[in-house]
Amino acid sequence: MHRIVFLGPPGAGKGTQATRLSRSLDIVHLSTGDLLRSAVSERTNLGIEADRYMRAGQLVPDELVIKVIEDNLRRPSAKTGFLLDGFPRTLRQAEALAIITPLDRVVSFEIPEEQLLERLTQRRSCPKCARAYNLATQPPRVADHCDDDGTELVQRPDDLPEAVRTRLTVYQDQTAPLLAFYQRLGLLRPINAAGDVDEVGARVRTATA
Ligand code: AMP
Repeated sequence: MHRIVFLGPPGAGKGTQATRLSRSLDIVHLSTGDLLRSAVSERTNLGIEADRYMRAGQLVPDELVIKVIEDNLRRPSAKTGFLLDGFPRTLRQAEALAIITPLDRVVSFEIPEEQLLERLTQRRSCPKCARAYNLATQPPRVADHCDDDGTELVQRPDDLPEAVRTRLTVYQDQTAPLLAFYQRLGLLRPINAAGDVDEVGARVRTATA
C-alpha cells in the first residue's frame, strides 16, 4: 500500500509534488497547511485559533493538527493509501501518527537553503484551489490568475520575509529531528529536491515505487 509522508523544509516543493503523485497513485493528498488555510478562510473555531500561529510562521499546537489528521485518516477515502504533506512536523506528532497508522515510506526533500528562500519569495498561490505557482519558474498562463479556475493569485502572509525566517528556524528546531526518527525506523528515502518539477517528480516516483 502507499502510505506516504513528505518531509522537508518550507519551499522544498512538497505540495507541488504531492499533488502530482497523489493523482498518479490515486490516493488522498492531506496537506495540513491547506486544511488549516481553509479553516482560516471559513472562520471555523480551528481556523480562528490557528490563524495567529500561521501568520507568525509558528507551528499550530500539536493537539489541534493531530485531531485534523486523525479525522481525515479515519475517512474511507484514506483506507487505500494516503500522502501526508506537512505532517508530522514535531516528534509528538510523529508519535501520535504511529499510533494511528503504519507508514510505508517517508520521502525527505533535500535542498540548499538559498534555493528555499528564492522559491518562497517567488511563490504565489490560488486562494480557491491552493495550487502553487512560482513567478520565475512556474508562472501562470495569464499573469496573476490561476490556470485551473481563474482566481486571482495571492502571496501567503507567511511567505513574507519575517515569517519565512521564523519558519526555517522552526523547521530546523522542531521538524528536522524527525529525519533521524524515520531513519531509525528504516522508512526514510532522501531525494534531491533541487531542479525542475519533472526532474524532482521522477526522483519522487523512484523513492516511492
Ligand atoms: P505549510 O502550508 O505546510 O507550509 O503550512 C503552513 C502553516 O500551517 C505552518 O507554518 C504552520 O503554521 C501550520 N501547519 C501546517 N502543518 C502543521 C503541522 N503539522 N503542525 C503544526 N503546524 C502546522
